[in-house]
Amino acid sequence: MNDVIVNKSQYNIGHICTTQQLENGLADKVAMRWISANDDRKDYTFADLDNESNRFANVLQKLGADAGDVFFTFLPKMPEQFFSILGMLKMKLITGTLFANFGDDALLDRLGDSKAKGIITKKSFLKKINRIRDQLPALRWIIIVDGDDHIEDDIFSYSRLMSEASAYFITSPTSPDTPSVLHYTSGSTGKPKGVLHCHNSILHQHATTKNVLGLNIYDVFWCTADQGWVTGTSYGIIGPWCQGVTQVHYGGGYDAEAWFRLLQDEKVTVWYTAPTALRMLLREDATLFSSFDLSSLRHICSVGEPLNPEVITWARRTLGKEIYDTWFQTETGGIMIANRPGLTIRPGSMGKPVEGIEPAILADDGAMVADGEQGDLCVKAGWPSMFITFINNEQAYNSKFRDGWYYTGDTAIRDADGYYWFMGRSDDIINTGGHLVSPFEVESALLEIEEIAESGVIAAPHEILFEKVVAFVCLHQQFEFTKELELKIRLYVSNKVSSIATPQEIIPIAAIPKNKSGKIMRRILKAQYLGTEIGDISTLEI
Ligand code: AMP
Repeated sequence: MNDVIVNKSQYNIGHICTTQQLENGLADKVAMRWISANDDRKDYTFADLDNESNRFANVLQKLGADAGDVFFTFLPKMPEQFFSILGMLKMKLITGTLFANFGDDALLDRLGDSKAKGIITKKSFLKKINRIRDQLPALRWIIIVDGDDHIEDDIFSYSRLMSEASAYFITSPTSPDTPSVLHYTSGSTGKPKGVLHCHNSILHQHATTKNVLGLNIYDVFWCTADQGWVTGTSYGIIGPWCQGVTQVHYGGGYDAEAWFRLLQDEKVTVWYTAPTALRMLLREDATLFSSFDLSSLRHICSVGEPLNPEVITWARRTLGKEIYDTWFQTETGGIMIANRPGLTIRPGSMGKPVEGIEPAILADDGAMVADGEQGDLCVKAGWPSMFITFINNEQAYNSKFRDGWYYTGDTAIRDADGYYWFMGRSDDIINTGGHLVSPFEVESALLEIEEIAESGVIAAPHEILFEKVVAFVCLHQQFEFTKELELKIRLYVSNKVSSIATPQEIIPIAAIPKNKSGKIMRRILKAQYLGTEIGDISTLEI
């Protein structure tokens, strides 16, 4: 058994990340150094983390929440988000996280599908929730982090609830298969699917934090990922805190100088970030970096998109640091394939499988392909952080498994030495800046715009973001494509889906190619955009 589990009846992530750390003698150790976008700082010890999450667990209990209820955070990165997530986990609630930039439709899909009973958010986001509230009959509790008084019978003030709650809470024994974290992931067809994990995931998150990210108790770790994304929960909360590591959490966005000052001043030893951010840094004036002392930084890890070899070379040359690329997904809950200290990096490769994980490259008929040949990237089912279902969609969950293999939706190659190389997606999902965007969600939002008759959305290569969202639109006859319409489209998608899903390019087209059953032929749009061969069009609508 993994050494993070000291009591066989207690797998609770919230408990292990806080109370257990106190039992290990870390009560006064800094768990989180919070740095706001305005550079306000506050340290929270493991004892603070335990007290605040206990209080929130008591708040939930008093409200009447029960184990298995779905509760979401809809917040930017801020201390209250961490306290509430840990409190929800202690109460065995299904703990969901939502990106702060989600628009009305994105929220409705997730809150509605999961029948969420509660949400913790901030005042300025309330109007989005109010617009969809009548379509969310299950929603009973809204908690606002930035108000001293309750607003309505079911809209509560976080600070008021917390001030009335005790900091004493005993987490009841939690079995490994108890549901824990919920993240929605975009599909290329249909609505986003709720990927549900269980408390057992902590075994793999603990092991990989130690063996892949290379963290130990003396480290200062900075994970830039938002908590809306699996990296933000698996490695921005669970992995480091379950082994007593101090984390820096920063509320600001990309700012090369502020980031390097943070790395220097906080003496960050391991930094986990994404290729988009690294590519942005690569474009900065190199003299910027020489003014900072990064001697504390041991290495950098990366996740979310392919890491180009130039970035690895740049980091070696400019920073004198190694970047270890890691591969995983929302569904896998933890790192599956990775470069790591002690393994020679092959720039451009995702590295080798981590301990206990058995990936394979399979052909269409399910047979293993030879080394060097491309196929579906699969993982032998049964790893500890494997998702346990798509919430309310067991059929879609089952369809991801065949003959004991989980099909990831990525295509890859394994070389003769066992290194894995990412080749692409086997579906139309767009990976922009490490965020997966569903072309279906964007197309659906576009169709709600009065002027648009048909739409087709594709991924196109982008120098910084890896991929960008490109929308083809066919207008109703009476309308013209103008600059104003373009702006209206952008704003609409941003408000309805999210700013990340907003098309970077919008191209008017006379008709959207579809096959005989009416399916949008995105590959034809893509070939048209890239000026490449269209391929077989025998099923095209005529
Ligand atoms: P998500 O579920 O949002 O975390 O996205 C997972 C997807 O991001 C994977 O299926 C890949 O397509 C992509 N991805 C994650 N890490 C890497 C990586 N290191 N290299 C290439 N693609 C990656």
